[in-house]
Amino acid sequence: MVNLLQFDRDGLAAWCEQQGEKPFRATQLFRWMHQRGVADFGAMSDLAATFRDKLRAAAVIAPLPVASEQVASDGTVKWLFDVGGGDAVETVFIPEPGRGTLCISSQAGCAVNCRFCATGHQGFSRNLSSAEIVAQLWHAEFALRRRLSLAPGERAVTNVVMMGMGEPLQNYAALLPALRTMLDDHGYGLSRRRVTVSTSGVVPMIDRLRDDCPVALAVSLHAPDDALRDDLVPLNRKYPIAELLAACRRYLERAPRDFVTLEYCMLDGVNDSAGHAAALLALVSNDGAAGRPGLACKINLIPFNPFPQSELKRSPPARVAEFAAVLQAGGIVTTVRRTRGDDIAAACGQLAGEVQDRTQVAARRERAMAIVVAPPASRRRGALGTQPGQRA
Ligand code: SF4
Repeated sequence: MVNLLQFDRDGLAAWCEQQGEKPFRATQLFRWMHQRGVADFGAMSDLAATFRDKLRAAAVIAPLPVASEQVASDGTVKWLFDVGGGDAVETVFIPEPGRGTLCISSQAGCAVNCRFCATGHQGFSRNLSSAEIVAQLWHAEFALRRRLSLAPGERAVTNVVMMGMGEPLQNYAALLPALRTMLDDHGYGLSRRRVTVSTSGVVPMIDRLRDDCPVALAVSLHAPDDALRDDLVPLNRKYPIAELLAACRRYLERAPRDFVTLEYCMLDGVNDSAGHAAALLALVSNDGAAGRPGLACKINLIPFNPFPQSELKRSPPARVAEFAAVLQAGGIVTTVRRTRGDDIAAACGQLAGEVQDRTQVAARRERAMAIVVAPPASRRRGALGTQPGQRA
């Protein structure tokens, strides 16, 4: 059985053709799925009975099982989805006046291993499929429409950020159809400006995304120089800051927004001094004398969300304010992310990590140890789950 959530509209049209159906049937089916949230083929009243029979025989519209749901007093909702094999992924809905943002996961675990990230600490388990990425939006949109009693045509999710668990650009093949489904006017109809891909800096795939499906771009920077970023975001050893910023400038040639968002997690005593702020300002500022073109950007300062194994601490609010003031005085639009859903607080990836701790982590570590000792490098790379563009 094929899960139809995996297809963008072109993919669904190709599949319908294989079933002997005209491509326009795919548009009807796509609208039932993604505009009305219908999973029962029998309820799709404008499809021919013969087509519905074919669908029942060959396909499903399979949502992800919900392992848990938490609702904070400020309306933030956090779902934990069971993706099988002892893995779980998180999806978070953040309501604000006039908009609702959904933060979606792209992988179970993550291979990048950023020091400040609970997901990175778990290691990499596997890529999510396109269906599993879209299923997070599908569930959130239609569960919230029902809960909030929205009028027909009213949307719960107005913005999507690919900023949950995983590095989306290391799961590009699954990401692309999922993005296209989000943007499709017969699907969720989100504008490119309202869909953001956040990356730790997989430079070649930033270029691919620019060519294939330019949406808003956020980059997890977290440090103003390579020495510190090598430590905080190990992928920097493969794609250092100068290459990353050059890729961002190329991206802006086709991006729907005229700036890149730089994410900067504020870590007490690590990257949060006035000197770091000055270095960051210099990095993104145009300096012809130094041969540095700068970068059109906004900077988002993120209060660190501590988790037990991190050995890192959140910067005090006064230091965050000083840091922001240095950037703002230099003309850089700088925001400090508000913490949301405090009463269900957990660092991104922490809930899923707790599930894994009860199930998979010990076994996975044993497997990884066995892999490290035994086979040749090519097999080791695949088995450990690193991806093209990833430092092994
Ligand atoms: S911050 Fe993002 S890229 Fe880094 S380990 Fe966490 S999920 Fe992976």
